[in-house]
Amino acid sequence: MLSLKFFPLPAIIGLLALSFIAGACMGSFVNCIQLRIKDKKSVLGRSECPNCGHRLGFFELIPVFSFIFLRGKCKNCKAKISPRYFAVELSFGLLWALAVVFFGWQWLTLEYLILFTVLAAESLWDFDIFEVPDTLHIIAAVNFLIFLPTHPEPLSRLLWGLVTGLIYGGALLLLSLVADKVFKKDSIGGADIKLVAVLGLYFGWKSMLLLIILSCIFGLLLSLIFKAGLQKEFPFIPALCLSAVICSVCADPLISWYIGLFALEH
Ligand SMILES: [Zn+2]
Repeated sequence: MLSLKFFPLPAIIGLLALSFIAGACMGSFVNCIQLRIKDKKSVLGRSECPNCGHRLGFFELIPVFSFIFLRGKCKNCKAKISPRYFAVELSFGLLWALAVVFFGWQWLTLEYLILFTVLAAESLWDFDIFEVPDTLHIIAAVNFLIFLPTHPEPLSRLLWGLVTGLIYGGALLLLSLVADKVFKKDSIGGADIKLVAVLGLYFGWKSMLLLIILSCIFGLLLSLIFKAGLQKEFPFIPALCLSAVICSVCADPLISWYIGLFALEH
């Protein structure tokens, strides 16, 4: 791995700015595709204002900054633009810059840029319609396989990944079947189970345990935000995805800190 600390400062700033801009563009693209699929519109064609149909020019298409310069309003009809565009583009930009800061300059960075993009897209879908297309889980699994040869021990990574995915995915499936019987309704979503199985490919069993614990905490916060009790649905995928991003960049220090809490003092 080539850590960023070996780069001169202007190169680091340039690389981070570039990652942020590329991430924001990817966010704009993912958001646009998702909204068009949701509204059953063609994914091809120029972007336009949903209110007046004004076709967006080059400067209006610049992610993050166009929203700031236009003060969140359409240039033509002055209708308010949903802050969702700004929030999604900013989040993707920050996520990509974060990946470059933590992983440096190596193949792993590209692997995690793609994984983070898929996770953010899954969160968007779940926030919107409580459903996630299987295509996204498949992209994450294929991404894992494509980058296997770039890891030091690909076969062992593959085997451990499959075992971890099967154990955690299987355990959640079992829990969901029991919960369905107890609550007499669908409890844990199928997409949640599939995502946990796919994440098992990327993370070791310890990191997965931390990921599940963090997801429960974030899930609880989300259920409070969505004012959902046991009877009401709320999106759990964003909790899993946020935990996966945290575990990607700092699972080891977090686990060491947690184990340290119980270590005997001499
Ligand atoms: Zn307009």
